[in-house]
Amino acid sequence: MSIAEVRAGSVLVDALGRRARDLRISLTQACNLRCRYCMPAEGLPIMPRSELLSADEVATLVDVAVDQLGIDELRLTGGEPLLRRDLEVLIAQIRARHPGLPIALTTNGLGLIHRAAGLAAAGLSRINISLDTVDRDLFARITRRDRLPDVIAGIDAARAAGLTPVKINAVALSETLPGAPDLLAWCLDRGLELRFIEAMPLDADGGWTKEAYVTAGQVLESLGTRFALTPIGRVDPGAPAERWCVDGGPGTVGVIASMTRSFCGACDRTRITAEGRVRPCLFSDDEIDLRAILRSGGDAADLAAAWREVTWRKSPGHLPADVLTHPRRSMGAIGG
Ligand code: SAM
Ligand code: SF4
Ligand code: SF4
Repeated sequence: MSIAEVRAGSVLVDALGRRARDLRISLTQACNLRCRYCMPAEGLPIMPRSELLSADEVATLVDVAVDQLGIDELRLTGGEPLLRRDLEVLIAQIRARHPGLPIALTTNGLGLIHRAAGLAAAGLSRINISLDTVDRDLFARITRRDRLPDVIAGIDAARAAGLTPVKINAVALSETLPGAPDLLAWCLDRGLELRFIEAMPLDADGGWTKEAYVTAGQVLESLGTRFALTPIGRVDPGAPAERWCVDGGPGTVGVIASMTRSFCGACDRTRITAEGRVRPCLFSDDEIDLRAILRSGGDAADLAAAWREVTWRKSPGHLPADVLTHPRRSMGAIGG
């Protein structure tokens, strides 16, 4: 496929033939936690409101993505997306325009107790809540904030609001590895779908090292000390989580082996940062500024053309762990 054909097309493809269908939009890079594998202790620089995409601008970009580029799944993320007070309005706006579009949210759960019902009513389809441990002291050390009870209250509120199955994302860390079976037991008791994620060099402090990160294999070994795990595999090749049935079911656990069993060859993601830049690959600093196009009067065709062009150049993926280095932006500044 040539670049001219790509420009005219109705899908988002790169030069390696991968089609992006899953759009992740960061709504802010601010956060009320400071997870060590993501944020610096002082947080990321505060972005003036005028630099963030407004709810109308986000909705316009979703229109372009769905109507012109064949995106069929949306995830809202950050930073912490619940810090956007207009989140419910934004979701309702997108839902009204795209009734069949799955809209998911990734959140740390803080404040969700007050928002879960409203988010569900606005049209949110699914929710992922990040939780690395149910040990309060350890949670406070990892996130640099003593907020575990608030996260648990948020998880309960999401279940009560019918945002089920609630998925729990846990970054695999050496401190949490011995407690991995406790976290799984806790999730199974509540009907939550737990997935462990290998930490990537996307922390703002540059602390990730190839020697110290915890692998999916180590997580499975730790879980295997208490549970019988039977592989289920991936639901589809683009789905990063490999799943295991726990003790014969119905409970399952997932592992996202971003480093040791990388799935770049089947990557179907495209991302937009909080200030409106398309970033086709987490690990490549090649981006395009859609906000500038929007604010200088560009129309849907201009936005779609720029988005296709930067996607065509998408990086093949990240390098192996022993040579991989941190990209310019950290996870909180991209949108996980
Ligand atoms: N604040 C929200 C949250 O924590 O769910 C949404 C944004 S956060 C950047 C999205 C996801 O990225 C979270 O599940 C988090 O655990 C994950 N994440 C952050 N830093 C990471 C890293 N260095 N490696 C792997 N996953 C990471
Ligand atoms: Fe905040 Fe999420 Fe990053 Fe933790 S992982 S610091 S909650 S953005
Ligand atoms: Fe996709 Fe890039 Fe992540 Fe690989 S590193 S899965 S290509 S976003």
